[in-house]
Amino acid sequence: MSADSLPTRITIYPDPRLRRVCAPVEEFNERTAALAQRMLELMREGNGVGLAGPQAGICRRIFVANPTGEPGDDHVYINPELFDLTGSVEAEEGCLSLPDIRVNVRRARVCRIRAQDVDGKFFEQKAEGLLARIWQHETDHLDGRLIIDRMDSTDKIANRKKIAQLEADYAKHAKKSAKARR
Ligand code: ZN
Repeated sequence: MSADSLPTRITIYPDPRLRRVCAPVEEFNERTAALAQRMLELMREGNGVGLAGPQAGICRRIFVANPTGEPGDDHVYINPELFDLTGSVEAEEGCLSLPDIRVNVRRARVCRIRAQDVDGKFFEQKAEGLLARIWQHETDHLDGRLIIDRMDSTDKIANRKKIAQLEADYAKHAKKSAKARR
């Protein structure tokens, strides 16, 4: 997070930035806070409940969440670690980087998180249900993992065409911007 400008759009699959293992955030300054604010805006614009660094094109261990959509329920997690994962529950998930794709994902029902806030201060929280699910989904992003990596055979068949379409759109766009650069 140097002097580059703030992200303007959500990174869409199969952009390779979604597949990297992110590095820890090391600097806590006004840029860190500005990035977190921008990520919350992008999340809201996309009607999402969470957004991770790679989805904003930033390969750093940061994610934001808002499980209720209430203005006071914004959360920022930097360098998060999940622990005490217990229980197991399956539910349908979407992802702002995978438009129109829905996948049934089995996750821990309850878990704890240890993370830093935008000032670098450590905190710990416990969650169950949706917030616990968001934490696990977003932490996956920080390790380059997506919900399509967790599809069973039924979801693979159901989403095959949409995934192929996203890949085709991306290839077309990449070709176009290569042409524009020449
Ligand atoms: Zn996602």
